[in-house]
Amino acid sequence: MLVLVINSGSSSLKYQVRDVEAGSVLAEGLVEKIGMGNGGDGDGQVEGPRDHAEALEQVDGAIHEALGGRTLDAVGHRVVHGGERFAEPVLVNNEITRAIERLNPLAPLHNPANVLGIRAIAKKWPDLPQVAVFDTAFHRTLPEYAWRYAVPDELYTNHGIRRYGFHGTSHEYVAHRAAALLDVPVEEFDAVIAHLGNGASVTAIRGGQSIDTSMGFTPLEGLVMGTRSGDLDPSILVFLGRAGWSAEDLDSMLNRRSGLKGLAGNNDMRSVVEAAEAGDARSAMALAVASYRLAKYIGGYHVAVGGAKALVFTAGIGENSHQFRSLVAARLGALGVELDAGLNREWSKEPRVISTPGSVLPVLVVPTDEERAIAEATAAVVARSSVAP
Ligand code: ADP
Repeated sequence: MLVLVINSGSSSLKYQVRDVEAGSVLAEGLVEKIGMGNGGDGDGQVEGPRDHAEALEQVDGAIHEALGGRTLDAVGHRVVHGGERFAEPVLVNNEITRAIERLNPLAPLHNPANVLGIRAIAKKWPDLPQVAVFDTAFHRTLPEYAWRYAVPDELYTNHGIRRYGFHGTSHEYVAHRAAALLDVPVEEFDAVIAHLGNGASVTAIRGGQSIDTSMGFTPLEGLVMGTRSGDLDPSILVFLGRAGWSAEDLDSMLNRRSGLKGLAGNNDMRSVVEAAEAGDARSAMALAVASYRLAKYIGGYHVAVGGAKALVFTAGIGENSHQFRSLVAARLGALGVELDAGLNREWSKEPRVISTPGSVLPVLVVPTDEERAIAEATAAVVARSSVAP
């Protein structure tokens, strides 16, 4: 099945054309500066397209060339917020599109763009099945005691304030691959998975399902990230509010000027590691804060799942930074974690074990591939719906 995977941002459109059975990528690309019109910034760049529909027209040629005379079977959209309703990928129709739109207040930067992407495709290829794959869906199995915040009930009932969790497509995909690597049926797989990219989250997996996750109402809660603070005492915001900070000031401070950037002055893990190795004390402290915080979550989730059978690292930092992995593992001696220094340093794009045979908890590196997971989920939904009565 040939699937076009679309990841629409507010001003960007990322795409991949995938042959699901062959597991191959036929084309991929990115259109930026959508809606920023009259680019004309003199650097030779083409003007940004007016909207997502115009962005699609720009990439249409490349997609057709990649298809080489074959036709697309479906489109799979990464949709950030599925709220409480969506626990699985779904075939899109008008009612589903409106339901995604109603979730806009929960993900104001992302869901409106996802809806624009869906409508642009529906207009261009009205007969092509579209599937929405939600970042929150995998976490719909969280028990209520894990998703509830201890605040007055009306915040949940009137405003939907609860833990939703994100990165679900990645956590689910990685859980399946890690279970396969260890030869454990996924429904018996208990683990802690750390997805460490620019955004980072850690998930407690019991019986292959998510039972807790560090991101919450928004993707800000939890770990120290590239530019996001993760957990902090909420009274800090009250304090700053009283001192005159606006909601926008707080939002920008927490989401764009905190995390590694706030602590070390740089949001890129590679640069922070290099600076720390060259003797920069702020960078070394940023790594200590980030690895300590992750180690605390791993300890907590080990308890939550009743004894994890594996610790799994994934995404940009998890897959590539042997330095960060070893800083985290060094804090996990109480769990019986022991990395094999040689295996940890070796780079590969294959899933692999990096702990010693004597490590009580095996430690794995499993590359994530959200586009592949979206393409496979899309193909499965379309196959199911075409046999339905
Ligand atoms: P996103 O959340 O944007 O998809 P990625 O998963 O691509 O992010 O992760 C980006 C992070 O991965 C950055 O902090 C980057 O420095 C880090 N990273 C990528 N390659 C390496 C590497 N070889 N060594 C250390 N860190 C790396």
